[in-house]
Amino acid sequence: MTVLMLQPELHNKIWGGTRLKQFDYDLATDHVGEAWVIAAHSNGVSTVTNGKYRGRTLTQLWDEQPELFGGHDAHQAFPLLVKILDAHDNLSIQVHPNDKQSSEKFGKTESWYILDATPNAKLYYGHLAQNKAELTKQVENKAWDKLLRTIPVQKGDFFYVPAGTFHALGAGVLALEIQQSSDTTYRFYDFDRVDATTNKLRPLQVEEALAVTKVPHVDPILNQRTRMQGNTIMTRLLTSPKFTIDKLSVRGTSHFNQHHPYELFNVITGKITLTHDDETYDLKKGDNFIMLKDTGNYTLDGKGDIMVSFVTPDSYSNQELAYLDN
Ligand code: ZN
Repeated sequence: MTVLMLQPELHNKIWGGTRLKQFDYDLATDHVGEAWVIAAHSNGVSTVTNGKYRGRTLTQLWDEQPELFGGHDAHQAFPLLVKILDAHDNLSIQVHPNDKQSSEKFGKTESWYILDATPNAKLYYGHLAQNKAELTKQVENKAWDKLLRTIPVQKGDFFYVPAGTFHALGAGVLALEIQQSSDTTYRFYDFDRVDATTNKLRPLQVEEALAVTKVPHVDPILNQRTRMQGNTIMTRLLTSPKFTIDKLSVRGTSHFNQHHPYELFNVITGKITLTHDDETYDLKKGDNFIMLKDTGNYTLDGKGDIMVSFVTPDSYSNQELAYLDN
């Protein structure tokens, strides 16, 4: 068995809403901000829902049966984390550390694929300060309007957010977030809002945030390209040092061959049938799974979109990746 279907874990957030219902997830509150759809982290974990590993968590399988994932050192943690975020309200203005700066096993380089957005939705990406002194001064003065780069967004937009990038998703954005497996956030500003569950402002970490923010902000150049694979349009959205992301727009029967030790799949629209080794999986929007080592050939059919992510192989040239490195 090489397909692990996964049960997401839902997290309430001050800025969350109810739009994750559209993925057929059971929301217990009207403030669900995050579905951790592929996770093996101490703050959230996916559980297998099919086959002989049913009921096991992704963390257990990774630790106890490394061969399923192509093998890894005992101390190595599962490196990726995929979430769906419903920003009913703005997230805090924040930044994340890189691998060297993080007290966790990984830094937090992330990416957003915009699944949906309200008509005037926007997000904050990068800042306008030219040097650290200017950034520090504007942050001390809470001169957010002078610092924030505001970007209007719509469905289908993609952003690469390397560690050290000043950012926040804005109200109205529904996003698939593919990132390193880390939960370390340093907040600059939280819009002075009171958390109803504690009656307090959420803590800020301004000093840590200033220390890891890259100055000046430079937009990464994404070398995106598209090709056909059978009846599927494959778009390579990102090749970065930490992960690579493909979007598969399935428009009929298409044959594939898995090349990597394991790949993460998130069905974001439509209905798709996956056939592999005489087994058939009826997939729909909101389904998430991992294909393990030795999957080999498989077929996708139907009409829908799937995001596929994997750890970038060493064979990808360093030169190709250098422009994206932290
Ligand atoms: Zn973030």
